[in-house]
Amino acid sequence: MVIDCHTHRNAPDPHAIISTSPIGFVAQGSQLWSVGLHPWDLGLFCADNLRIKDEIWVELVASSASPYVAAIGECGIDLSHGGLLATQMLAFRKQALLAERLKKPLIIHAVKAHDIITGMKKDLKPEQPWIIHGFRNKPTIAEIYLKAGCWLSFGEKFSPEALDITPPDRILAETDESQLSIDTIIMRLEESVQKSLRETIIENSKIFHPYE
Ligand SMILES: [Zn+2]
Repeated sequence: MVIDCHTHRNAPDPHAIISTSPIGFVAQGSQLWSVGLHPWDLGLFCADNLRIKDEIWVELVASSASPYVAAIGECGIDLSHGGLLATQMLAFRKQALLAERLKKPLIIHAVKAHDIITGMKKDLKPEQPWIIHGFRNKPTIAEIYLKAGCWLSFGEKFSPEALDITPPDRILAETDESQLSIDTIIMRLEESVQKSLRETIIENSKIFHPYE
């Protein structure tokens, strides 16, 4: 059972999906993972700042095929800290297509990039869920993502107004790099909307393990 869809904590974390890079990826026990190329690290993963190095791509494709890899990512577009936009878009698009091919959800890191992400979604028309992780923007941005059919994952920092307008069936929760437990984070989300969300989040998180 998954309840925390995105964390960077160490394994084992039985109710979380641990996000990691594909470099040296090894599955451990029944731990679930997401593997992807983070936009901050594309300098390492790309040759001449333009294309993903072949050996990195081979490693990503091989590790993503593991049954313990429940999602692709985090990947995405970051207009504040990422590198060249063309490189980021190319790497994101490739990973989105990989997620489609493997029928696994996509975990997205997006900073000031809602137009680009939703534009690419319109273009690619993916069948797999696209999850905007660590969503902390205003409701107007939430609306844009929701209208495009994205899911929003909320963590320690979030906009109560944005959470308020998110339909329950699009809400996920995460610890990411927080020191708080997922239980505390969900409690804070519940306090904010004044209703229980735990069961909803567990139910929604079944997108990560559809065969159980
Ligand atoms: Zn993260």
